[in-house]
Amino acid sequence: MQQAVLTTPGEIEFRDIPMPGELKENEILLRIQKIGVCGSDIHVFHGKHPFVTKYPVIQGHEYSGEVVKIGSNVTAVQPGMKATARPQVVCGHCPPCLRGQYNVCQNLTVQGFVANGSAQEYFVVTQDRIVTVPDNVSYEQAALIEPAAVGAHSTLRAGDLHGKNVVVAGAGTIGNLIAQFAIARGAKKVLLTTAKSDFRLGVARQCGITETANLSKEDFPDAARRVFGDEGFQVGFEAAGAQGAVTDLIAGVENGGTVIIVGVFEENPIVNMGFLGEHELNVLGSMMYRHQDYEEAVTFIAEGKLITEPLITSRFPFSQYLDAYHFIEQQGDKSLKVMIDVAQK
Ligand SMILES: [Zn+2]
Ligand SMILES: [Zn+2]
Repeated sequence: MQQAVLTTPGEIEFRDIPMPGELKENEILLRIQKIGVCGSDIHVFHGKHPFVTKYPVIQGHEYSGEVVKIGSNVTAVQPGMKATARPQVVCGHCPPCLRGQYNVCQNLTVQGFVANGSAQEYFVVTQDRIVTVPDNVSYEQAALIEPAAVGAHSTLRAGDLHGKNVVVAGAGTIGNLIAQFAIARGAKKVLLTTAKSDFRLGVARQCGITETANLSKEDFPDAARRVFGDEGFQVGFEAAGAQGAVTDLIAGVENGGTVIIVGVFEENPIVNMGFLGEHELNVLGSMMYRHQDYEEAVTFIAEGKLITEPLITSRFPFSQYLDAYHFIEQQGDKSLKVMIDVAQK
């Protein structure tokens, strides 16, 4: 079978590797269908991901597949079913794992970054990480469950959003899905911002996120006043991985408010800690997701509470994986989710 190997930043090589061997009792063999290319993949492709220093890397952490074979103890799925799986390989015995916070396992390795990902025709996953997908969810939508789960998890980190005004900084796939989750979870008003072009804000509006601001044209405090009036905002999500977004959210959130950090930062941002202390802000991290977040993402997509179609802006066959990256570089923020069709040669 074919495997796409990121041999070194900027280079992808296809290798013919043997099919996975005999399955262990808790393992499942997937025929990979779609892989979404994500912002963190692009950091890795450019050799700029803060936590990926060793190459080669087999990428692919947002994917969907068809179950083709199951181990003797597998009850969660049957051959022929649609599925996706969490890419988190955890130890199960460190303190965070023991208290159920395995998304921050002290020995966490993430497939597609440090451990091998799904950029190959067939891929073996373990039963504890598999998530089944109903028939009315397409393979493309199923490959978006991973970023949607980030939205599910981060919005729960913020506590009850009912009646709260929310700002999401960053209009990429993750920011968009956080905003959609915030709306679905009962936030009063949700403002999505970008510091880049209008393209992603147009996609956001197609996804039902009506309040948007382009901070290259409007200052953040003006945008917040335009949307929230005197009410201000109580919760901010940083999904841009940018200094400007951190600064705006911390300076702008209501006293005692909450800012959730979701973005990946190529450079460590500066935070005004004195201001944070004096205004009793809650600044919380949010790391990936847990199993229930994946399941909630499936439910929200299946029930149409999340609109995913406008997020997918291009598609490439498996053999053109490298072209997909070049296309993304060329398009800049005029593309959003690019899908690799692994089943298409
Ligand atoms: Zn991703
Ligand atoms: Zn652990």
